[in-house]
Amino acid sequence: MTSHAAPLIVGAGIAGLWTAWRLSVEGRGSVVLTKCALSDSASAWAQGGIAVALSPGDSPAEHAADTMAAGRGLSDPEAVRVLTTEGPDRIRELLALGARFDVATDGRLRFGLEAAHTRPRIIHAGGDRTGAVLVSTLVEIIRADPAVEIVEYAEVRELLELDGRIAGVRIVRRNGRVEERWGPAVVLATGGVGQLFETTTNPLVATGDGWALAYHAGAELRDLEFLQFHPTALRLPGVNPAPLISEAVRGAGAVLVDAGGRRFMVELDPRAELAPRDVVARAVADAEGGAWLDAREVPDFAATFPGITAMLATHGLDASRDLLPVAPALHYAMGGISTDLDGRTTRTGLWAAGEVASTGVHGANRLASNSLLEGLVFADRVAREIVGEPPVTVAAEERESLSPDDPAPDRAAEPVRAEMRRVMSANVGVVRSEESLREAERELLRLKSATPRQAWRTANQLLVARLIARAALERRETRGGHARTDFPEPLPTTEGA
Ligand SMILES: Cc1cc2nc3c(=O)[nH]c(=O)nc-3n(C[C@H](O)[C@H](O)[C@H](O)COP(=O)(O)OP(=O)(O)OC[C@H]3O[C@@H](n4cnc5c(N)ncnc54)[C@H](O)[C@@H]3O)c2cc1C
Repeated sequence: MTSHAAPLIVGAGIAGLWTAWRLSVEGRGSVVLTKCALSDSASAWAQGGIAVALSPGDSPAEHAADTMAAGRGLSDPEAVRVLTTEGPDRIRELLALGARFDVATDGRLRFGLEAAHTRPRIIHAGGDRTGAVLVSTLVEIIRADPAVEIVEYAEVRELLELDGRIAGVRIVRRNGRVEERWGPAVVLATGGVGQLFETTTNPLVATGDGWALAYHAGAELRDLEFLQFHPTALRLPGVNPAPLISEAVRGAGAVLVDAGGRRFMVELDPRAELAPRDVVARAVADAEGGAWLDAREVPDFAATFPGITAMLATHGLDASRDLLPVAPALHYAMGGISTDLDGRTTRTGLWAAGEVASTGVHGANRLASNSLLEGLVFADRVAREIVGEPPVTVAAEERESLSPDDPAPDRAAEPVRAEMRRVMSANVGVVRSEESLREAERELLRLKSATPRQAWRTANQLLVARLIARAALERRETRGGHARTDFPEPLPTTEGA
């Protein structure tokens, strides 16, 4: 009999790292498992910043009102209240940990403006390197913490049950070795689903694994149809992921033009380029002859956006000289594994935090820069909730008897995944219809039957793609990140729900 006291945290983005940090502060060790290196996460890539009600004159209530408006009637007011009222304390803690957010000449935090925020509220670090700064701050602390075991290149393949509760994971190591780890709680912090689409800003690790794991374990998923497409990914054929040109660039004055040089957003929405993302994404997708971002008039572009400037240079582009070709790209999943306000899923022993979870904060659309904050706030609540879970006792360790994983079937199925990504972008993308969604379902089923069972990664991705298409088919309205050409209006019955 072996006793296991350390909770298992799957994922090393902001949500996973913060869970481990808080547990450690509360005196509990943990195991952080991540399928690639620690730097492979959306968190490490976040550019724009973190929304938080800390600027003079701002308040959690105003931040909450903007978040509710973005959610188009589907955000849970209590989840939004938790996010906006607990957010400032998490940022103060990050500051105390040494995270270097950008400050003005008077030494106070600098606040930027982003789409659909009614006032400047976004804090940054390293200009547009917010995520990298945050992740490296946390990684440094956690690496030095003997209470936290970090296991890189440990891909969670399955959730394990013990006495009717989730209490372990089966992982595949880089050399193919399969192992089991047990713990009093399993926290899924596996991030998003962008890699199921052809054009996405998400890193290669964002393959929807958490949704598949939760689904197989019988946990409830919700609102999977609500996906946010970022309107301004750099449009470069064959480049995956698509490099992002953050909203902050539009906040700093860049405008969108079509092939004829017309500034099309001015005619479509009074907020022009700073209209909510779904509005801008649809306009960019529809723009006559394509869309370009004109940032030539943005003062000090290179100093304000050093990361974007360097990225553009690698593609031979200079924002002070060139128009930047842009297209919408799958960016963020609003829905996910249903959780309560403490991150508890519908399966005992299983928690979820960060982008993989559906806390109710985002409703039908996410307010820009709310996701890092959500990761911090709800991971913190998960940690405080599981800190008291008693150790689990496991009868026998089967490690040696598990046969190694064979990645060959998944490698051979790359054409299937490429086809899946094409089908998802073409039929379940910025705009959808009954016809496109039924076509997606048919194609995804066909791809499933062409996929051998041993290609379990591919099968999981196809499963999540089908779940998204089904959810989109069932929502017969247009709302937030979900736009239907055949149902172009929101349903009055759910408005304000
Ligand atoms: C380019 C870009 C820019 C962004 N900019 C901003 C911004 O400015 N502000 C903002 O608020 N949000 C931004 N976002 C969104 C935000 O970064 C993410 O929503 C957030 O970082 C998600 O954090 P997370 O901890 O939930 O997941 P992630 O940071 O994505 O981490 C997921 C982790 O899970 C691991 N993992 C996945 N599957 C498995 C598995 N099967 N086994 C083991 N490990 C696994 C991954 O390796 C990774 O470590 C941006 C996103 C992108 C892609």
